[in-house]
Parts: sequence; C-alpha cells; structure tokens
Amino acid sequence: MTHTTTLPAYSLSYWERETLFGNIDVAVIGSGIVGLTAAIHLKAQDPKLNVAILERGALPAGASTRNAGFACFGSMTELIDDLTRMREDEVLSTVEKRWRGLQRLRALIGDAAMDFQEHGGYEMFTDDEEEVYQHCIARMPDFNAKIGAITGRPQIYSAVNDRIDRFGFKGVRRLILNEAEGQVHTGMMMNALIRKAESMGIRIFNGLEIERLEDSKQGVELDMKQGFSLKIPKVLVAVNGYAKRLFSHMELSPARNQVLVTKPIPGLKVEGCFHYDRGYYYFRNIDGRILLGGGRHLAFDEEATDQFGSNEMIRRALVQLLKRIIVPDAQPEIDCWWTGIMGLGPVKKPIIERVSPNVVVSVRLSGMGVAIGTLVGQEGAEMILNF
Ligand SMILES: Cc1cc2nc3c(=O)[nH]c(=O)nc-3n(C[C@H](O)[C@H](O)[C@H](O)COP(=O)(O)OP(=O)(O)OC[C@H]3O[C@@H](n4cnc5c(N)ncnc54)[C@H](O)[C@@H]3O)c2cc1C
Repeated sequence: MTHTTTLPAYSLSYWERETLFGNIDVAVIGSGIVGLTAAIHLKAQDPKLNVAILERGALPAGASTRNAGFACFGSMTELIDDLTRMREDEVLSTVEKRWRGLQRLRALIGDAAMDFQEHGGYEMFTDDEEEVYQHCIARMPDFNAKIGAITGRPQIYSAVNDRIDRFGFKGVRRLILNEAEGQVHTGMMMNALIRKAESMGIRIFNGLEIERLEDSKQGVELDMKQGFSLKIPKVLVAVNGYAKRLFSHMELSPARNQVLVTKPIPGLKVEGCFHYDRGYYYFRNIDGRILLGGGRHLAFDEEATDQFGSNEMIRRALVQLLKRIIVPDAQPEIDCWWTGIMGLGPVKKPIIERVSPNVVVSVRLSGMGVAIGTLVGQEGAEMILNF
C-alpha cells in the first residue's frame, strides 16, 4: 500500500536542499552593513566556515543603502540630548564605539572604496536658537576635553560663525564645527562590502524573508515567507528596524526617515555634513547636489513604522528648508526621494545579545549605523565564534 502526504505547493527540491542551501554553518539574516560586516568577520576568522546571508529584498532593504552617509559620532546638541536619558559614561562609551567603528570600517574597505572625505560636520542654529547655541558654547571646553580624549583631537568642537557666508545659507546665525566628522558615498560603501563578502565565498541569497525562527538542540529552524524551511546550526540576526517582527518582546521600534537629492546645483557652495534642529534634519553635498533628510520629529507616531512610504507633510517641510535656508539663491530641482527604516530604542545603545543557545542578534543601530555598524556586526560575529 502506498502512503501519500499532502505537500505544500512549493517545497525545496533535493538538489536545492542538499547543494544550494546545503552545509551552511552560519546564516546571517539581513544584508545591511551589520549583516555584511558580521559575515565578513566570521569568514575572516574561520575561512572553513560556510557562511550565507539571507536577505528579504532584491537589494538590502532597510537603512544601509538608503542613508545619508554621515561618518559622524556626535554633534553637540545630540550629545547634550543623549545626556538627558543616559549617564555620562554611557554617552561617552557610545561616542567611543562610533569612533572605533568608523576606524574599523575604514580599515576594512579603505577610504577610496567609499569615497571617505573629512570636510567636517557642522551644527547650524537659526535666529530663534540662540539659547541652545549659548548652552553649547558653555559646555564646549568640557566636551572638547572628553571627546578629545577619545578621538585624540583636542579641539574637536569650535564656533565657526565666520563660515556662514561661505556656504550661502540664509537665516543661519551660528555654526559649530566638529572637525573630525566625515562623509562617505553610501552606494560605494555598500557595493564594496557586498563585493568583499562575495569574494570571500559568502553566498548572499536575496528574496528570502524569514518569518519565524525556532532554536532547538538540532539547530535553528528558519521558516521562510516563500513557504519552505531551512535548519541551520547557528544564526546571527541583523535585521535592525525589523527585529520586532521576529522578537516581539524586544525593546525596539522602527523609525522611517524621508530623504531627497536635488539635481546638480551650479556653483553649489555647501561642503560637509550639516545637522539642524538637534539633528532631526541633516544635509550634505554629494556630486554637486544636496542630499537632505529627516523631519521625523514632525510626525513621530506616523513615522514609527517599518513600511516604506512617503509623508507629504514632512516632504513639504524638507523642501521649504532646502529653498529658504540651505540654497536660497538657487532654484533647486528635486531629482529623487526615498525612505529608509531605522531601529531605535529608549536609549542609544545597540542590542548585541545571545538570545537563545544558537542565535545572536545585532540590532538597534539608533541611526548611527555607518559609524557603529562594523563594530556591532563584528561583536555579534565574535559571540557566534565563541559558542
Ligand atoms: C534615511 C536614513 C539616513 C541615515 N543616515 C545615517 C548617517 O548619515 N550616518 C549613520 O551613521 N547612520 C545613518 N542612518 C542609520 C544607518 O543607515 C543604519 O543604522 C544602518 O544602516 C543599520 O544597518 P543594519 O545592517 O543594522 O540594518 P539595515 O541596513 O536596515 O539592514 C537590515 C536588513 O535586514 C533585512 N531584513 C529585515 N527583516 C528580514 C527578514 N525577516 N528576513 C530577511 N531579511 C530581513 C532588510 O531587508 C535589510 O536589508 C540613516 C538611516 C536612514 C534610514
């Protein structure tokens, strides 16, 4: 008598299961900067490991290919704001991690591969922000001493109001420079990381969304949205703003950010990275254009989502900022808009944790992933190696 069972519409063939997905030692979920640097670190430390990255998007589909490319580790108002929620030693430790993460990223792929440039980062203050500016000036010597001890650059922050005219802004009254802040070309950076991973023999499977994972003695069962499962000995989860979908208890919330890039602006004077309104707005030069993003604070609740999509009110605010303050003498045309998803928590501290015997998470980059991502990926990978 023959027994038949009901089969799902789609299941892996023997060849797919045994060869194409066969013998994976570690699966990294998510191909953002954290997932890629974790996989690269695993392979570099143990070349015999079979490491695969499983990514839901056709490309990385979170923040790493959709950010602003600020290689930043803390503007003054950002750090002052952090100090209202975190102890000073915690704030300084995060700055130190951001600084160290940047150096690791630079060492990993090299400055040329991501067009790293150190034009400095500026915080700008409009007419109605004099009080905030004066507060920064009062705290500057203390910040220079403490952040200088981390970076080895004793005069990190300085007032550079004489540069306002140089950039062509309107309505800007004060500028504070962070001389060690840099910028990267995000597309080049991610391209270099993907190529490095591939050159080391790391397979990246795109279009695979993990809906559920269950750890057991035999390994981690990964259920895919596509209708099949894989069992993998060890798993590193690097899904940042999407982590709550897999771990509902996790203290993390997604945060969407809107970004625009203008068409090239003839004679553009802006050079460097700029933060405005406690960093809720940010802009920089790229290829003779302005990249401008942020405005999440105008609609916190609506933007606490992991769905891509535009917010018309925020878009209008960004365009107004662009035309009135940033390039008031040009008639900038917008070339493109996009959104990206960050992962935030009550404090600005990543979660790098072994959540079950065979699963490590490296998530909650709090909008600092260009700087801190390499370190967070590598620390997660070290946990996997030390099981
Ligand atoms: C608009 C914007 C501007 C920013 N600007 C800066 C900046 O200038 N400087 C800075 O330091 N940081 C910036 N950030 C933050 C920085 O980009 C992030 O902190 C960093 O990219 C996070 O990297 P990640 O690898 O942890 O996450 P992500 O890049 O989000 O990668 C997570 C990946 O996991 C995948 N994934 C999610 N769920 C699943 C699943 N279930 N199965 C399979 N795959 C899954 C996603 O598709 C995604 O590709 C910005 C972020 C945004 C959105």
